Parts: sequence; C-alpha cells; structure tokens
Amino acid sequence: MNCCCGNDKPFEECCQPLIQGKSKAKTAEQLMRSRYAAYVHHAIDYLVETTHPSTRKYYRRKDIEKWAKESTWLKLEILFASGNQIEFKAYFRDKSFQIQTHHEKSTFVLEGDTWFYVEGN
Ligand SMILES: [Zn+2]
Repeated sequence: MNCCCGNDKPFEECCQPLIQGKSKAKTAEQLMRSRYAAYVHHAIDYLVETTHPSTRKYYRRKDIEKWAKESTWLKLEILFASGNQIEFKAYFRDKSFQIQTHHEKSTFVLEGDTWFYVEGN
C-alpha cells in the first residue's frame, strides 16, 4: 500500500512519522506531502503547527478542519518542486460530491532544521 501522498512506500514509513513528530521533513516537498497526508488523516494539529507562525493567523484552525473533514481526498500531484517553492494539485471530492482540483503554488521556509509552510496562491 503506497502512502496517500503518492510516494512509493507505506504511510507508516512515509508521512506518518512526520505527522506524529517522530521525524522531520528534510525538504519542502516532504513537508508538502506530509501536509497533504495530514488532510487525508484529519491531523489538524500538524497542519497548524507546520504553518509558519508569521502566517498562522491567516489559516484558521476551524477552516482547516472543515475543509479536511468535508472533503474526500483523492490524489496529490506535485507539478514543480525546487528549494522553497512547490507547485501542486490536490484532487478531492467536495461535500456535494463534485470532484475539485486545488491548484496552488506554495512557499516554504527552513528555520534551523524545521520546514514550515508560509503561504500559497
Ligand atoms: Zn507520504
């Protein structure tokens, strides 16, 4: 069983250790994938904690939780990954059973040994 983030290894060896705080993302892409997995697994704390403190106020916990839980997450597609920039598409079914694509270019930042999600558009 491959991880829901699209990597070719099981969740237990891929995104789960990151979400559980047992290991740290070494790249922005790894953090991105684990954040997608956190949406799939409703790991809302992880989504809040991995958002950079400077932009955390723009991402309300309630909204994150609502979006995570109301959606059925289908697939993550990384279109571009370089340094602190990731472009991706996340496919999900919304609460009206419509298939939606969330297309985002995200910025990440590395502080010490910790990657954070800063913002996306
Ligand atoms: Zn994964």
